[in-house]
Amino acid sequence: MSQHATQGSLHAAAPGLPVAFASVEAAAGRITGRVARTPLVASSSLAALTGQPIHLKLETRQPVGAFKLRGAMNAVLALDEAARGRGLVTASTGNHGRAVAYAAREAGVPAIVCMSALVPLNKVEAVRALGAEVRIVGRSQDDAQAEVERLVAARGLTNIPPFDHPDVIAGQGTIGLELVEDLPELALVLVPLSGGGLAAGIALAVKTLRPNVRIIGVSMEKGAAMAASLTAGRPVDVVEEETLADSLGGGIGLANRFTFPLCRALLDEVVLVSEDEIAAGIRHAAREEGETAEGGGAVGIAALRAGKVRPHGPAALILSGGNIDTALHRRLVNGAPA
Ligand SMILES: *Cc1c(COP(=O)(O)O)cnc(C)c1O
Repeated sequence: MSQHATQGSLHAAAPGLPVAFASVEAAAGRITGRVARTPLVASSSLAALTGQPIHLKLETRQPVGAFKLRGAMNAVLALDEAARGRGLVTASTGNHGRAVAYAAREAGVPAIVCMSALVPLNKVEAVRALGAEVRIVGRSQDDAQAEVERLVAARGLTNIPPFDHPDVIAGQGTIGLELVEDLPELALVLVPLSGGGLAAGIALAVKTLRPNVRIIGVSMEKGAAMAASLTAGRPVDVVEEETLADSLGGGIGLANRFTFPLCRALLDEVVLVSEDEIAAGIRHAAREEGETAEGGGAVGIAALRAGKVRPHGPAALILSGGNIDTALHRRLVNGAPA
């Protein structure tokens, strides 16, 4: 695949999009005060590198260390009383699982996180510490997912998906509202791209308010499902590979309903970065910006440093998360190769 998987887009948030801008505004009304309004900070090192003002949106400062809290919180708060009473269930052990657990506790809603017996103890403890019930089932992620579906069918629990849901997309879109408010002269946004909830939400908000702002999705070269799907013109599966950007792994779902059409309509381009470039992005975040970024959170810096994106005006990069194994982080910052 080429580095530039897609180019050109519809610039207006056209009618016919599966999520409305009004949903993003409604999400902002719901989640304000329950998630962090994160800082947008100028990066002098990236400005020197590119010759343009570059700003970092620090979603690493969310209480769970990643932006996923916005979408999960919006989805939980949008549930009716009966659904809240029955509770939530998910099989995610990553940033989405943490976000669901945190949002559920905040909203006073019970939550169960299903995990296989192979999930490392530190991940189990992290979810328990957020107040969720952990249910250990089977020996694979598929077994955990099967238990989720059983609980949805048997007890009416609600499974909040990690990206392909209007309330999740709208919650992530609140980042876009904050970007335009904090940096009205914004010309470009670099967004880490996996299932596309983050990119779709931000693009929906920013393109509605500022139709000429370019939105570029950034994924890793290894197993970029949305990039492959945009090229194919329909959702496709890719082989999942190990990558430093582990939070960007996984498919977009062959039955994708929301993020694929939104990304197809609203993203101007998708750029792919190598493992070495991601390592350099993590290193740069630590050494130059004083920020701990996980691989998925550092891909925007990686793309700029590699010269794969050349801004022509003020740009914002989303540092989407900071949950990285501390030993791995130390090795990378000390210069170990990817
Ligand atoms: C989930 C995640 C992403 C990608 O978000 P999508 O909505 O799936 O595209 C990026 N960065 C981090 C840290 C994440 O946890």
